[in-house]
Amino acid sequence: MQRRNFLLMAGAASLIPASASGAAGRRIIALDSHGAEAEWSITGQPDSGSLARVEAWIAKSAEAVATYYGKFPVPRVLISVEFTNNRRRVGGRAWPSDPPRLELSVPMNADETTLMSDDWVLVHEMTHLAFPYIPSRRHDWMVEGLAVYVEPVARIMAGHMDARQMWADFVRMMPRGLPAPGDRGYDVTQNWART
Ligand SMILES: [Zn+2]
Repeated sequence: MQRRNFLLMAGAASLIPASASGAAGRRIIALDSHGAEAEWSITGQPDSGSLARVEAWIAKSAEAVATYYGKFPVPRVLISVEFTNNRRRVGGRAWPSDPPRLELSVPMNADETTLMSDDWVLVHEMTHLAFPYIPSRRHDWMVEGLAVYVEPVARIMAGHMDARQMWADFVRMMPRGLPAPGDRGYDVTQNWART
């Protein structure tokens, strides 16, 4: 479980609507019971089964985040999904700025297990939307640390994950963030494990 951001592949093609239906070809997903919604679009050529799985994945991830915070963190988010043959795991990046948006890359034939059982990435990225955008990287330790902590707790609260798994992961992973000799503190020493 490598809890970290993945940058999207560079040079993404222009976005096309995820659905041909609707006046503007927009695809909307409800994210909570308070009216929050996602407008999502895609690049790539997925089949209808892949689209349905991704839609269910977005809804399930939002359910966990909304359960933790009481509602989805922002009323509206733009989600761009790149279907790609160039990776085997889901990747994502969050932009909690105005407008809030998420960029996701999904293996072209991602199956049910990859998206609905094993994935932590989208919940992680959605929790970033609850934290203010900070241009400086100085506070990345707080931005990432909070998301790393909230993500499994949110999934447990929603019944998507076993608490024993989280504690096992924390015991195994958290010591990696302890300072090494020469460490200059969270604000300065920004290697992956420390962050
Ligand atoms: Zn993150």
